Amino acid sequence: ESNLNPKYTFENFIVGASNQFAHAAAIAVAENPGKAYNPLFIYGGVGLGKTHLMQAIGNFIKTMYPSKTVVYVTTESFMNDLIDSLRNDRMTEFREKYRTVDVLLIDDIQFISGKDRTQIEFFHTFNALHGSGKQVVLTSDRPPREIPMLTERLRSRFEWGLIADIQPPDFETRIAILRRKAEDEGIEVSDSVLKLIASRIKSNIRQLEGALLKLKAKAQLEGKPLDEELVKNALKIEPGISHPSSSESDHLPVDEIKKVVSQTMGVTIEELNGSSRKKHIALARQVAMYLCKKFGNYSFPKIASAFNRTDHTTAMHAFNRIKELREKNSELNQLITEIENTLARLID
Ligand code: ADP
Ligand code: MG
Repeated sequence: ESNLNPKYTFENFIVGASNQFAHAAAIAVAENPGKAYNPLFIYGGVGLGKTHLMQAIGNFIKTMYPSKTVVYVTTESFMNDLIDSLRNDRMTEFREKYRTVDVLLIDDIQFISGKDRTQIEFFHTFNALHGSGKQVVLTSDRPPREIPMLTERLRSRFEWGLIADIQPPDFETRIAILRRKAEDEGIEVSDSVLKLIASRIKSNIRQLEGALLKLKAKAQLEGKPLDEELVKNALKIEPGISHPSSSESDHLPVDEIKKVVSQTMGVTIEELNGSSRKKHIALARQVAMYLCKKFGNYSFPKIASAFNRTDHTTAMHAFNRIKELREKNSELNQLITEIENTLARLID
């Protein structure tokens, strides 16, 4: 079966500046499967609507073209399916299953990183589908060029069609999403409360929706109205729904900067915090420190300790080095500009 969740549709996907490009691409693919952009590669951070958009494509096609077969699968279950099939001598069925669909939706393809056997099999699946004009849609938490340990032939295929990113939602979009969610759930809540929530939770739509539900539950349990006071208290004391930027200052939190650098430069948070001297890791770490100074305006000792360094000159050195490198290396400069744009949106 297709594995689609009917709750993910275009109708209930709120469009704003941060996702309109990916949304338009998804609509084009849904209306013209196999003909508009193939593959469509959607990437963006956690909880920003990649799975929603991808499944909306599938649900739309199933409604508009009932005879077409659509399969949605996470990269992990594709992989498990492959392993099972290899073990149980069922590769014929496996290939039949994935190579005869009209639309294949593969979620979180970044997990194919380093999985050699799966990459080989997916390469052939992709070729079979693409070669016969069938639609492939992929999502990832990062663009193809930043997925490590991915064979060049797969990377280049991921780039054959259209690559569309989803950015964290701006303030207006966050409010629109909250308002829609409140309506759907029958939660009565004022605009000022929605604004307050939207100003505290910025970079994850799943968290944004979760906060509203938790606040409603809290109001019910305590027999209080869902008002600004309740929100202020709840978002302060409940770590699950508080946002780091609700801390005392209006600095962009270090964790937020690390997250964006990690996503954009293809290194993990652990690697940023760690002590590896591998070139790309050390560079990403220095970029993160540089941005902590520039965007967060933290002191050098504070930045050093946020990266588990005892010597504040490490942070100072990183700042100066990146400042110089930006002038000499246009590729790096462009990458950092991209990160800065993302961070600027988080501040809004
Ligand atoms: P991702 O796959 O990028 O991690 P999801 O697609 O799972 O994110 O989205 C997380 C939650 O936020 C889901 O409940 C989804 O319906 C909701 N969501 C994300 N983007 C939007 C949007 N633009 N409009 C409405 N709901 C959204
Ligand atoms: Mg997802």
